[in-house]
Amino acid sequence: HGGGRMATAHDVSPPLSLSTTFTCPEPGSDGHVYSRISNPTRERCETLLGAIEGTPSSPARAVLYASGLAATFGALSRLLPSRVAISGGYHGTHQVLEQLQRISGGANCNPIPLPTPEDAAAVLREGDVVWLETPRNPDCHVADVAAYADAARELGGVRVVVDSTFAPPPLQRALTLGADIVMHSTTKYLAGHSDAIGGALCVRDAALASELRADRSAVGSTPGALEVWLLMRSLRTLHLRVERQSATAAELAHWLDRAMPDLTRPDLAVGLVHSVAHPSLPSDPSHGVARRQMSGGYGGCFALELASEQAARSLPAALRLFRDATSLGGVESLIEWRRKYDDAISPRLLRVSVGLEEAAHLQEDLQRAILQVSAAA
Ligand code: PLP
Repeated sequence: HGGGRMATAHDVSPPLSLSTTFTCPEPGSDGHVYSRISNPTRERCETLLGAIEGTPSSPARAVLYASGLAATFGALSRLLPSRVAISGGYHGTHQVLEQLQRISGGANCNPIPLPTPEDAAAVLREGDVVWLETPRNPDCHVADVAAYADAARELGGVRVVVDSTFAPPPLQRALTLGADIVMHSTTKYLAGHSDAIGGALCVRDAALASELRADRSAVGSTPGALEVWLLMRSLRTLHLRVERQSATAAELAHWLDRAMPDLTRPDLAVGLVHSVAHPSLPSDPSHGVARRQMSGGYGGCFALELASEQAARSLPAALRLFRDATSLGGVESLIEWRRKYDDAISPRLLRVSVGLEEAAHLQEDLQRAILQVSAAA
């Protein structure tokens, strides 16, 4: 898988090339020259991620970046639309749009509200980009990728980009649903251990992949080799981690949704948790679409709306197994009062990222902390 040019053919674990430069390759050969342009560890990891995001008969082409936002910038600066149809989601993506508007003097990347797939033909026009973050950070709303991709194809000249950070393979594969580009913050589930910032774009089109690589080399948004090696190490367990995180998140979301009023002190607990958002819940507005497009599971994150801002601010500190920290997708469970980072989010919302601890232990921790915060309230 692309690593053949390193003299390490017998290594079981992939080798790590930290070299920034390489002895000048023979004229006409395609050897590595300088690691901002290409690097054997990165090439191998891109081959692996392409295989994971594609299908066995049709691997995708992956391009790795220094961060998820560098990947977002890479996609949008290459497509350079005048309008981007987008609905909420990660606040940093909107900051990238603002940067591109600033650089272009307002000509590019102006956000417009994302129409429903049914209204897409009336609202969208050639050159637009549809940016779908699904499931969406932090409310776990699911967008119907195939419906938008079909509408874009009918319109012609509209590109669909899917930020799949919340649901990497094997949960969903948006390229197979018709997306033009899949973007990941690899910082989250793909690297999976809260120790490597990174991003990726995955595409089918070879020419687009080459353009993205040339842009990356020109602006220098390449990831470091160590981060890429950590990502490659983690991809080897991706399916095990993500399926388990997804199953545990679904179990906890169902428990919270169903059993909240029956906690051992119902007098205290009733009403503290207002609602639970996870696409696995049959009552969730996203459930129908999620069932069709998230064939491998519904994701390892869910959101809770508590009865008051005070309760939402207090719960993270009352938990022992869930760490009060931002980010998601790591092996350790995290919870955060999302309003801290994003003004657009309800002050009663908590975002939960489920790790690899025992579901029963996490449930116990939640139950104890909810009762403690209820009692204090
Ligand atoms: N997209 C989503 C959905 C995210 O949650 C994040 C980070 O939280 C990003 C993009 C940005 O990724 P990074 O922090 O790796 O730049």
